[in-house]
Amino acid sequence: MQAETQEFDAIIVGGGPAGVSCAVWLARLGLAPLLVEAGAQIGGLCRSNPFYDEWNATLPGMTGPQVADNLALSLEQAAVPVLLSCPVKQIQRCPQGFAVTRGSGATPLVARYLVLASGVKACSLPELDRAARSSGHADRVLTGPGEHIVAHDFRDKRVAILGGGDNAFENALYALGKGASAAHIYARHVRAQQQFVRQVSPANIAIGPYKVDVQALRVNDRPYDVLLVFYGWEPCVDFADNLALDRSVRGFLDTHALTAETSCAGVYAIGEVAQRQHPCVVTALADGVTAAKAIQARIENQLDADRPIEAAVIVDNWR
Ligand SMILES: Cc1cc2nc3c(=O)[nH]c(=O)nc-3n(C[C@H](O)[C@H](O)[C@H](O)COP(=O)(O)OP(=O)(O)OC[C@H]3O[C@@H](n4cnc5c(N)ncnc54)[C@H](O)[C@@H]3O)c2cc1C
Repeated sequence: MQAETQEFDAIIVGGGPAGVSCAVWLARLGLAPLLVEAGAQIGGLCRSNPFYDEWNATLPGMTGPQVADNLALSLEQAAVPVLLSCPVKQIQRCPQGFAVTRGSGATPLVARYLVLASGVKACSLPELDRAARSSGHADRVLTGPGEHIVAHDFRDKRVAILGGGDNAFENALYALGKGASAAHIYARHVRAQQQFVRQVSPANIAIGPYKVDVQALRVNDRPYDVLLVFYGWEPCVDFADNLALDRSVRGFLDTHALTAETSCAGVYAIGEVAQRQHPCVVTALADGVTAAKAIQARIENQLDADRPIEAAVIVDNWR
């Protein structure tokens, strides 16, 4: 395969909106990116959003999968080489920059610059998952938003929702809209948008500590048919542990505001893995541009890849 032998300016790990945007911009800027994606398709979390994306002002009327298809088309039109079904296992520094290890036996891919765009996964509690599996309730304990919630039949079901953010409230309203007989929210704190909170009766929101018994499908001793778990998101970046990158208190990668460069020179982190801005498709796309322009500035100004980039060079390079 061509990608095995070619030399790349940058390897981008992750084919969601952030990674695709960065790869397309690098290619359009005349550089040589390679995009490596763990899944069988491009699109990242957009693939698991079955609804219309009403938050992207440039693309009204598109569902998540249609946005994902557009991302794949943009890569194709910019002739970016892509490796699908190719989870990155490890990253190591090497004399040429960074070596990216895939499955066992495959030759590592090498590039001068590395862009981490590997996104997030829904947080769960390991003890909840274990209890759900051992009690045969795996299909009644659903974690995070997306297709699996839409595939569930909520008619006449009693639903307990664990978590106090937007996803918890939005999905409580969704379950009720799909015929659930009850949707009770259990949250230590409520952080959701007021437009969602206002639509849920205060009688159906229990704020404070609560006790979950997955075996018996009970919360605070009340019986339910299904539990929905919305405990936020965690970054997918274990494969880069060798680089010992600085992280925020919540575990997301720390980056320079102007360049998206991490604490390791030459490594950039964009989109949800860094949570530099409110997480969504548009900010992920913008992050991709930021990293691509910073890499272009380094390459075209022949800057030392091991030293932080000067702000003046970045600003000169914006135009
Ligand atoms: C149900 C749902 C609905 C949403 N609705 C909207 C909406 O309407 N509007 C909106 O703007 N946003 C929406 N979002 C959020 C939006 O999808 C995300 O903010 C956006 O996809 C983040 O992009 P990203 O590129 O940072 O990460 P992701 O989209 O998570 O992409 C990361 C990619 O990296 C890959 N990856 C991870 N680890 C590895 C590895 N080791 N090797 C190789 N590849 C790897 C993953 O497979 C994935 O494809 C929604 C999210 C969900 C879950």
